[in-house]
Amino acid sequence: MNLELSEEQEAARQLAEDFVAREITPHAVAWDRAESVDKSIVKKLGDLGFLGLTVPEEYGGSGGDHLAYCLVTEELGRGDSSVRGIVSVSLGLVAKTIASWGSEEQKRQWLPGLTAGEAVGCFGLTEPGTGSDAGNLTTKAVRDGDHYVINGSKMFITNGTWADVVLLFARTGDAPGHRGVSAFLVPADSPGLTRRTIHGKLGLRGQATAELVLEDVRVPAATLLGPEGKGFSIAMSALAKGRMSVAAGCVGIAQAALDAAVRYAGEREQFGKSIASYQLVQELISDISVDVDAARMLTWRVADLVDRGKDFATAASTAKLFASEAAVRAANNALQVFGGYGYIDEYPVGKLVRDARVMTLYEGTSQIQKLIIGRALTGVSAF
Ligand SMILES: Cc1cc2nc3c(=O)[nH]c(=O)nc-3n(C[C@H](O)[C@H](O)[C@H](O)COP(=O)(O)OP(=O)(O)OC[C@H]3O[C@@H](n4cnc5c(N)ncnc54)[C@H](O)[C@@H]3O)c2cc1C
Repeated sequence: MNLELSEEQEAARQLAEDFVAREITPHAVAWDRAESVDKSIVKKLGDLGFLGLTVPEEYGGSGGDHLAYCLVTEELGRGDSSVRGIVSVSLGLVAKTIASWGSEEQKRQWLPGLTAGEAVGCFGLTEPGTGSDAGNLTTKAVRDGDHYVINGSKMFITNGTWADVVLLFARTGDAPGHRGVSAFLVPADSPGLTRRTIHGKLGLRGQATAELVLEDVRVPAATLLGPEGKGFSIAMSALAKGRMSVAAGCVGIAQAALDAAVRYAGEREQFGKSIASYQLVQELISDISVDVDAARMLTWRVADLVDRGKDFATAASTAKLFASEAAVRAANNALQVFGGYGYIDEYPVGKLVRDARVMTLYEGTSQIQKLIIGRALTGVSAF
């Protein structure tokens, strides 16, 4: 793997860095306090092509490779994980899954809007009773002529109240566990679908996280995505690439922690000297730096495998596991460098700690990533 970025990759990264400085950083604290980013950011992301990266141009995408996608995702995560998450879900989990599994009609119906930022997608897998054990979900879709009637509920759905389309996973047959699960593209304005914003999150406060309730939601059979009974495979293939995107966002958090810690250590004086001159402070900073480098390399390796058409699922779990734990460590170390000032939200590191914390939980907890890696190495499944 060549670690030197191509001109196109560097241009995409620079575009994202400039966008973050102009459109995100000045507002991040206010959005965090208001528990909502400004929704107009979605269209701006679409206008720059960030919501169409790696999606074929014929469906409105901006093409590009997966390393460019990771570079942009890292920069967005460096600016605000709430904004990064909008892209990771609407593009990474929804649009790319439609591009991979959708019929021509489904691609034409949804992709141009999603990639332009005129529509938003959300990914409805988790339920109140099934998180890690997603294969045992209980939402039901029952065939009724040329329709399905869906009943159930979904929990913690990113973009949930903003979405125009829900990539929804529901049980269609009597087959037990993951074999009976199918995927649907449910229009979010379908009668019987209600959405409730979840308030009071520790971090990602700017993001629209919701609970969805489906009561007799009637959708045409043509909303089925991929073959009936293949829903769990579709969800897992989406999440494998999704983990690369989360890992890239975590590199962004860790890099932001490093930037902030180095800057502050150089400005702050105690005992008549810059705190940067104290070796114990340098240790905190060098620990963050090692985490940034290692997490970034693991993430780039996934992008390289994806772009070369190789198996990447275990590498994606490895990157997600390490980068999410590294982001938590890095943000925490940066807060230590800031002392008491790190504890108030006029300074950036408290938000980094809160935003980082969810990364070891969603798209598969750290424990679940270890089980996936363990299964790949031993051939024995713990699930
Ligand atoms: C802010 C936020 C956004 C989210 N966005 C989405 C979204 O857009 N779409 C979506 O579908 N979901 C989303 N989720 C849900 C997320 O993916 C789940 O929270 C996650 O999968 C964990 O499920 P759970 O919370 O039910 O925890 P549980 O599965 O109940 O886990 C609780 C604990 O038990 C451990 N555990 C569980 N099973 C095992 C096992 N077999 N071995 C060892 N340990 C185990 C876990 O690691 C964890 O420590 C989001 C969650 C949050 C907080």
